[in-house]
Amino acid sequence: RLCCFQVIKCRAAVAWAVGKPLSVEEVEVAPPKAGEVRIKIVATGICHTDEYVLKGEFPNVDFPVIPGHEGAGIVESVGEGVTSVKPGDKVIPIPLPHCGECSFCLNPESNYCLKSHLSEPQNLLPDKTSRFTCKGKKIHHFLWVSSFAEYTVIPEYTTVKIDAAAPLDKVCLLGCGFSTGYGAAINTAKVKPGSTCAVFGLGGVGLSAVMGCKAAGASRIVAIDINKDKFAKAKELGATDCINPRDFKKPVEEVITEMTGHGVDYSFEVIGRADTMNAALASCNMNTGVCVMVGLLPSGSAISIDPMLLLSGRTWKGTLLGGTKFQ
Ligand code: NAD
Ligand code: ZN
Ligand code: ZN
Repeated sequence: RLCCFQVIKCRAAVAWAVGKPLSVEEVEVAPPKAGEVRIKIVATGICHTDEYVLKGEFPNVDFPVIPGHEGAGIVESVGEGVTSVKPGDKVIPIPLPHCGECSFCLNPESNYCLKSHLSEPQNLLPDKTSRFTCKGKKIHHFLWVSSFAEYTVIPEYTTVKIDAAAPLDKVCLLGCGFSTGYGAAINTAKVKPGSTCAVFGLGGVGLSAVMGCKAAGASRIVAIDINKDKFAKAKELGATDCINPRDFKKPVEEVITEMTGHGVDYSFEVIGRADTMNAALASCNMNTGVCVMVGLLPSGSAISIDPMLLLSGRTWKGTLLGGTKFQ
């Protein structure tokens, strides 16, 4: 098909420089090279991580860049050698590669593929070039997804084929937010039936963590947010108690400790602030409690904690996309 070798002109939301708002532009999207797939993006979510990109707080992002990493679409054309998808297939571009061959991909406990882009200071495709141009300038990719473009090009090993009946405007959330929150409870914390949980931050990711805790059989799920408008949805999804830290004089970790006796079994920070990371850590019980850091702090920042919080036995861990193995 001739079209497969043509440059596509379409719209994309481009971030030209740190601190500048997104600007919708006409961009050119080059055809896929060998091992690559060009996708028509039909739907995209907006994750708070895209906001960190605009502010220049996400590591290793070069500008100009097309953000967005929570998309779903339809394969438009494939490069030489691509066998796992064909034009017309519904797919989700995954923000974490899965080569299926490296030691991390072969380890059932890990989802950090060694072909990941996260460890490299660039936002180009694996061959170190870009498929996007705008007004004669090279535009960078983001997480090899760039779902804020109507068409994008990604490696075959970051393309996941999905059911032809899947509603793309809903399943796009599997690309990041839902998988991250749900997976943080199921894969990272491994929440046990009958346990108690606390989820700090009730955005798309935090609400998905509430759903994960509920699916794992938690008996009590405390949901925390400074925006009380989030509480109705949290309750609908499984939260048993909703609290606004601003309604209390004492620190929220003390409120949660009193509510549960000794603190919760599992806590999740899904906001991205140093103070709430401390509060979440202090909210899980001092000995067997597990706290999962889901929220992002600006790259290069530091966080200080009272070492006694860990010395007494607590576990503090992070999660990358909820430990999800996307393939
Ligand atoms: P969001 O902005 O939609 O939600 C954040 C919520 O936190 C909001 O409801 C807000 O009212 C609440 N909040 C803000 N300050 C608060 C405070 N001081 N106390 C209590 N609640 C407060 O964000 P999101 O898209 O759900 O993402 C949440 C975090 O997860 C972000 O930091 C994002 O970058 C991170 N994230 C991490 C991963 C990962 O792989 N680890 C993946 C996706 C997102
Ligand atoms: Zn995200
Ligand atoms: Zn791998």
